[in-house]
Formats: sequence, structure tokens, C-alpha cells
Amino acid sequence: MKKSISFILVFCICLACALTGYAADTGIKIDGTWSVLMPENPTSYESFASDKLASALSDVFGEDISPVTSADKNFIAIGSASKADTAGIADNGYRIQAIDGNIHISGTGIRGLQAGVNRFLEEFCGRKVYTAEITILPAAKSITVPADTDTVYEPYFEYTDTDWKSPRDIEYSLANGLNGGTYRRLPAEAGGTVDYIGGFCHTIGTLCKTADFAESAPEQLALHNGKRTADQPCLTNPKVLETAKASVLNLLKEKHDPDASLQIVSVTQNDNQNYCECSSCKEFEASHGGAHSATMVNFVNQIAVAVKAAGYDNVAIDTFAYQYTRKAPQNIKPEENVIIRLCTIECCFVHTLDDPSCKRNTELMKDLHDWSGICKRIYVWDYTTNYANTCIVFPDFNVIQRNIQVFYENNVRGVYEEGNYYIDSCDTEFGELRAYMISKCLQNPYCDIGAETEGFLAAYYGPGYKDMKKIIDLHIANACKLNSGHLSIGEGPGQSFSFSDRQIKEIDNCWLSALQAAETPAQKSNIERSMLSWRFWKASTGKGEFSLLNPERYAEKEKLFEDMKASGVSMISEGSYGDYLDCICVKYVPANEWNMYEDDEQAAHVRLFFEKILESLTPFLAAGGLFYKLIYGVE
Ligand SMILES: [Zn+2]
Ligand SMILES: [Zn+2]
Repeated sequence: MKKSISFILVFCICLACALTGYAADTGIKIDGTWSVLMPENPTSYESFASDKLASALSDVFGEDISPVTSADKNFIAIGSASKADTAGIADNGYRIQAIDGNIHISGTGIRGLQAGVNRFLEEFCGRKVYTAEITILPAAKSITVPADTDTVYEPYFEYTDTDWKSPRDIEYSLANGLNGGTYRRLPAEAGGTVDYIGGFCHTIGTLCKTADFAESAPEQLALHNGKRTADQPCLTNPKVLETAKASVLNLLKEKHDPDASLQIVSVTQNDNQNYCECSSCKEFEASHGGAHSATMVNFVNQIAVAVKAAGYDNVAIDTFAYQYTRKAPQNIKPEENVIIRLCTIECCFVHTLDDPSCKRNTELMKDLHDWSGICKRIYVWDYTTNYANTCIVFPDFNVIQRNIQVFYENNVRGVYEEGNYYIDSCDTEFGELRAYMISKCLQNPYCDIGAETEGFLAAYYGPGYKDMKKIIDLHIANACKLNSGHLSIGEGPGQSFSFSDRQIKEIDNCWLSALQAAETPAQKSNIERSMLSWRFWKASTGKGEFSLLNPERYAEKEKLFEDMKASGVSMISEGSYGDYLDCICVKYVPANEWNMYEDDEQAAHVRLFFEKILESLTPFLAAGGLFYKLIYGVE
């Protein structure tokens, strides 16, 4: 009996193998003899998509493949040459379908077709665009597409943007689905960009010409703390509304693009807290749940109605739910062509937004739910870096995907992930990894981010990528352990991490091991650049080789300073361009204080004086060096 069971089992396994082999054999095998079939009179979108596909397939197969307008078999049909039916697929989506042994790619809207081609290249040719410099496109004799392929995609968001480094690259943005126009100009034939026209934020003063009316009509200005101020306009004054309406309509007259998928006009509060407290504004807000957002929504609604009435169907009016307007109003709803842009500036970034244990985030979630109840077009302005201490690691890697899922699940239709926009002057941590994770999650919030991350790390850092992953994981696990337990966008180095000496040694070893494994100068350079974040953290907290017990700490700090300069780092926090470069006590003060000690400041000289005395005592602390060697095991 046992024997027969074994036999059946073996038979079944063989059958399964045979079936798998059979399935692979019936897949559609595409090679250099295939063609890209485009319509006879292609649109610019169809030409762009056909050329892109043909050029990439030429690279894969090492054969010259050009688009053709007629083919009987062995073709990938594009656009109106394709038989893949897109009925019911949302704008800027696509369908990739295998029909009768050929492949058909159709798109919707103006962005869908090229997105479909990019998906085909990624899924079936293994193409990955990890950074502006690193594109993986494996050469092959042939590729196999399953015969039952029928892939349908609809964008999760109508607007996606982030300002990290590689996302500014056009090919990167197309491959990874970014479409915001603030940091890139995508070609019109690839669908162009979703643009904020006339300003990205804090535009209300300009639109209402607040400053112009300061003398002649002060009642148009906000009444705050009993005084009229040009900091904000009075939003219930009918003349203010008329001025803003005219400004927006003039702007559209000048800059409207009827071919764009969407254009946005930002009508957003100025960046201060001086909202109007006149009796009319107060009364309106009181009857709408006491929310300051009520007067704002009422104001932009009327502009949005005028814009719609003027026939601008592809235009939306955007306003903030930010600081004093973050709470949703009652008894009033934003118009359909109004975008509510919710900002996460007060949030914590080691906990996901829907983590019930994090009070900062549960408050934001309540506001998101409230807005979600009255608005189907919420955008989010999210934050993904440490603005006060940009050189150290910002350990948000575990929350990126879930937060973007939370956005999608709550009527959010556009996401701007503000990052280290000054990365050209401060690129020291894991910026390119974060950019890639953000882009992939905006393209598909439910993607396999673990696999994406691993693929990125291997391509960017080389064979030692598992050590890099370990370093990142240790940062996440240790984040804010000694502090409040929460991570803001301005956390200090000591509050961000509290690694033990044992952990520091472990992380040091991971960096060294990754460096030793690097196979190319680019991988080595990537590791060394990211490693600046680790050295900077140790130099800010007096850990590892920067320990008070190490007589070599002065030289180590000077070396870090020189290495940072050589890497093009000219800022260590937001808005501090060049401030640390003329620090007069580099070797004496914690690295995160380098931007505080300039030559013309008295405090700098006092600090320098005392630190020099301490240095002269260093030989007597040589015994300390012994302790250091015992603790850190340095030869
Ligand atoms: Zn008012
Ligand atoms: Zn938290």
C-alpha cells in the first residue's frame, strides 16, 4: 500500500513537471524576428510608444527592430493597431493582452499607452530603471510571454510627484510612473506632466493682491488679533473673491493647455497663522463646525464654479488642509473640481499613519477620514526627510508603502512626497533607495516592495547588498528608542538613534563588508556616500571612532569633513547652504553643530579656545585610548 502511494506521488510530481514544461512551451516566444506593429497614421502618442518599444527590444535581442505598419504574425501591436479592448478602463490606464499568439498593447487617456509599453518592458523583458544612471535591461535570445496574458492597469493616483534626485530624470519618471510637473518636464507625446500653473503653494496673497489693498481697502485684509494684516486676505469679503476669481481666470487665459490630462491652480493660504477673525469670517466658521477651513472651502468653491462655467474642464482648484485649516468643516463640501491638499507636517514617521498607538498620526487620520467623507479629491503633501539633520538616516523605510496605501484607501488621488529637494548639495544617506521605493509605491501601492528594495540594493550597492539591508533594518529597529518614541522631520542625531557600542561595531562591520564586496567603482562610491550618514551620526553623538576616549577623534572628524566636501556636500540642513563649510572648530564640535561656528561669531572663538585647551590635555588622556581599544576593538 505504501509503495503504491509513493508511486502515485512520484507520478503526480512527474505529471506536474510535465505540465509546467508544457505551459512554458505554449507561452508566446518573442525574439529578434518580431516586429512592433503601429497604425498607418499614428498619433504622436502611438509613435512615441512604438519607437520606445522597438528601441528597447532592439537592445534586448541585439537585432534592429523598427516599427512597421503591416504584419501577419509575430507582432506586438500598439495603440489603434492593437485589439486589446480598453472599454471601461480609467483614463491613463492600459491593457496588455495576448491574442492569437500576438501581443496587443492599448492605452487610455494621453499617458496610458506609453505606461503600458513601460510595463511590458519591466514585466516581460526584466527592465528596471533604478536610478537615472542605472537601468537594467537583460540581453536575451528570446523572451516568453504567457499565452493567457491579460494585464489591466488603472492609475492609483492622478498626480504623483517627489523631489528626490533620480525622479527628476525623464526616463526614470516614465518607467516608474511619476507625472507631476514641478521637477520634470515629460514630453507631450508621453502624456506630459500634471502642472500647478501660477505657483505650487502659498499663492493666496498674490491672487487676491492683498498687499496692493493694504492702504486703499484695508477691510480686504485679514483682521488678526484686532489688526488688519496683509499676511492673509479676508475670505468672506466679496471684493476679495472677485479679485481672486479674476486672477485665476486671467492665469488660465494665459496658461491653459486643453491637451493636458489635468492642470491645477493653487489657491492656498500664505505660510503663517494670521487668519481672518472678522465677525463675518468668525460667524461663517462658527456655523460650519468652528473650522477655519470652512471659509477657505467656501472661497475656493466659488472660484472653482467660475472656472468650470468658463469651460475649463481639465482644470482643478487646489487648496490646503494645512496647520490651521487641517480640520475638515461641517455643512459644506468642496466642489468636484476642488482639490484638498492635506499636509502631514506634524506627523510621526516611524509609525504608519494608521498605527493606533501613535497619537500624532491618529489625529491626522481623523482629519483624513473627515475630509474623505466630504471630498473625493484629496491630495497629500507628505514629508520624507529630516530637514534639520539631513545628513543622518531618516528611518522611514518601513512606513512608506503602508502610508501610500492609506492614502489610496481614503480618497487620496494625488501625492507629493516632499524629500530632500537640496540633495545636490546634501546627498549622504539612502536618497536614491527612498526615491525608488516612493516611485514604485505611487505606481502601485500594493507592489512587492521587499523584492523591489532588494533588487535596487543589489544593483546600486553591489554584491554586499545584504549588509546594506541589515544596516537599514538596524536603523529602523533602533529609531527613536530613547526619545519620545516618535520621529519628526527635524529630529536630532541623539534623539534619532541610540545604538549601543556592540551595535555600532556590528554596523561598522556591515559597511566594511559591503565595501569589500563592491565590484565596480560606482558601487563603491555609492556605499561610501551613504556611509557618510553613519560617520556623520557617530561624529554628532561622539560614538565609535569619534568617541572622547579615542585620541584620533580629531583627525577622524577632519577626515569626515574633507570627505563630505569632496562628495559635494555643502549643506547639512535645510536652508543652510555653505554654512558648515567655514566652521572654525570642525575637529572640536559635534558634526551636527558645524553650521553654528563661523569665524565672525564670538561664541565660536570661545568654544575654540576651550576646546584647544582640552586638546592639549589629550596626551594625558592617552590611557583613554586604551579603553577605546578595549571597547571598540581597534588595532
Ligand atoms: Zn474676514
Ligand atoms: Zn509615532
